[in-house]
Amino acid sequence: MKVTFLGTSGSLPTKKRGQPAIHLQYKDESMLWDCGEGTQRQLKHTDISPFKINSAYITHLHADHLIGLAGLIQSLQFLDRKEKLEIYGPKGIDRYVEFFKNWDHFNLEFEIDTIEIRKGRIKEREDYEVEAFPVKHSTPSYGFIFKEKPSINLNKEKLKELDLLNHPKCSELKEKGEIEHKGNKIKLEDVKEPEKEGRKVVYSGDTKPCKELERAAENSDLLIVDSTFGEDHKEKSIEYGHGEAKGMAEIAKKANVGKLVLTHFSNRYKDERELEKEAREVFEESYAAEDFMEIEI
Ligand SMILES: [Zn+2]
Ligand SMILES: [Zn+2]
Repeated sequence: MKVTFLGTSGSLPTKKRGQPAIHLQYKDESMLWDCGEGTQRQLKHTDISPFKINSAYITHLHADHLIGLAGLIQSLQFLDRKEKLEIYGPKGIDRYVEFFKNWDHFNLEFEIDTIEIRKGRIKEREDYEVEAFPVKHSTPSYGFIFKEKPSINLNKEKLKELDLLNHPKCSELKEKGEIEHKGNKIKLEDVKEPEKEGRKVVYSGDTKPCKELERAAENSDLLIVDSTFGEDHKEKSIEYGHGEAKGMAEIAKKANVGKLVLTHFSNRYKDERELEKEAREVFEESYAAEDFMEIEI
């Protein structure tokens, strides 16, 4: 599983930072979390193919988080995309996407599914799920939790004893929890390895530090947060509904996360390492994101 930062600025892009966008690759699932202006150009600096992106999750409707969808959709059409694209976002996302779907000059020939999100699970697959949770910003906004489901592994030695090693009945056993084999009843709990927790990645979107984020972040391997400000603008961060490095680090510490990554920096900070330093005073595993930074989980 790989996370790539495509844009790490706040509302205003800078020479070295594009507008907010994060890419998550999990097996053959290729997803975007937010899609700020210029995201497709940022993709060109990576080996991520826009063609393979199957879903985009938009935290809120501020332009810096969704304006890149327009260009991406248009390019996909030029490139003759046929596969469906799923776009998740808060109430109002459909109006934005509908506009492009109906804009004559776009001539869209591929399907776009727009899914209005609410608190709770918004997508479920066999091996993972995505959950949305409300956060505290100046407009209705959500954060996202990517959670891999615990994997079921069978103990090879025990399978050997039962003459079941590499047997097609193993998938049936995982599915049904019990099978009959050579006249014996075999229960899943008798042959499975202790369950291993799945990986968890959490993205705050734009928000000030809040209880909802702390709850969502609990025991995550990676927590990505809005860190528009530092200690010098703590009041502003609360007033505007944005994060500040140290407050977010406190959340990471309380929530027992593996690694904290700060992003969405205000262009007033020339060196974001200052914010990283502030966060590290509270939580050592804190890092300032940079465009094209990659994290393997
Ligand atoms: Zn923003
Ligand atoms: Zn915003």
